[in-house]
Amino acid sequence: MSNKSTPQSAPILPSAHPPTWLGVMGGGQLGRMFAHAAQAMGYKVAVLEPAADSPAGQVAERQVQAGYDDSIALGQLAALCSAVTTEFENVPADSMKLLAQGSFVAPAGACVAIAQDRIAEKRFFVACAPRSGVMPAPHKVIATQADIDAIDDDLLPGILKTVRMGYDGKGQVRVKTRDEVRAAFEAMDGVTCLLEKMLPLAYEVSVLTARGHDGASVVYPIAENVHRDGILFTTTVPGPNVSPECAQRAQDAARAIVAQLGYVGVLCIEFFVLEDGSLVVNEMAPRPHNSGHYTMDACVTSQFAQQVRAMARLPLGDCRQHSPAVMLNIPGDVWFEGTSDTVREPAWERVLALPGAFLHLYGKDDPRRGRKMGHVTFVAPTPAEAQEQTRAACAILGIAP
Ligand code: ATP
Ligand code: MG
Repeated sequence: MSNKSTPQSAPILPSAHPPTWLGVMGGGQLGRMFAHAAQAMGYKVAVLEPAADSPAGQVAERQVQAGYDDSIALGQLAALCSAVTTEFENVPADSMKLLAQGSFVAPAGACVAIAQDRIAEKRFFVACAPRSGVMPAPHKVIATQADIDAIDDDLLPGILKTVRMGYDGKGQVRVKTRDEVRAAFEAMDGVTCLLEKMLPLAYEVSVLTARGHDGASVVYPIAENVHRDGILFTTTVPGPNVSPECAQRAQDAARAIVAQLGYVGVLCIEFFVLEDGSLVVNEMAPRPHNSGHYTMDACVTSQFAQQVRAMARLPLGDCRQHSPAVMLNIPGDVWFEGTSDTVREPAWERVLALPGAFLHLYGKDDPRRGRKMGHVTFVAPTPAEAQEQTRAACAILGIAP
């Protein structure tokens, strides 16, 4: 099957041509890489971000320094830009709705609102299941002590996740018993949570998709992801465990989900593959995604260039991967030797001497353990070679392979 779906009938808006302005909510690394892609195509980029110095703010032509819900700043951004997007999932959905009064906004606030609320997201995945063929993990909303009393034994052991504001495994506690659920729920200050059954994962995959305002959509090759301490460690494409059937099922599910959502822009959907081979949908990110960074160096169109195309109402780009690739995240830990507190620059010259290395650093000047500082992607003629260079980079950087 081709990776491109036929457009449905939708009102066709004129394209936003360079050198017009594109806006992005958020100043993180995803905004920085988006800005680079937009600027390469001749656009000017404005970032709305409260922090004075941010990865995206450093490279944008203009920064509107204000809170994400500052209505005057949102009005300025909408007036300046022909289209606005977000680089982080927890952007206030109402801000995206406000921006839409003065500019073309992708993704829409309504889609962001679903993705940033685990209850709405799970409900949406369940509603999609007849078309997508995949269900989320069995789960239950935990809002009160009575909800804990009513937990079905089959949901334990499980993971208690906050409904909102979770990322990189934050706001999650693994629980074995009802008492542990109670303790974890109390420790979360009574915010509404979701208890998810702990599933026997064989491996994890993600599918990056993009959909245009005209309904045309594209799907990237499936990526296999390894997490450590709740944070993405590597993305490997093609993944060593992924069968063609699994890839097909996940990509078909992604197409169904993005269409049912009526989404515009880049969307990443995370799936679990269980030990029995079944596929479970975990969550979606309404933006380019860490597991899609490999597309920058290994695909015809990067996820960031794709976001530019979608929001500027240009034809979506070719998702074809030209080289096997492994993306290795670079956490702040590699700036420290062992348990020492002394910061020293990692040996980038040795990493860059490895064949097929593409180093991306995000312009963050204070490395902290567990903070995403950059990533390196290895492209190679074969998957085995890309994996070998990744192991060599881990050895250089002092990361356990
Ligand atoms: P991120 O933003 O980094 O994607 P997150 O904080 O939104 O993470 P999840 O993706 O839901 O959280 O969970 C993080 C990781 O925890 C998953 O990638 C998976 O390894 C593990 N995990 C989450 N839910 C389950 C589950 N139901 N069963 C087994 N493992 C799980
Ligand atoms: Mg996740």
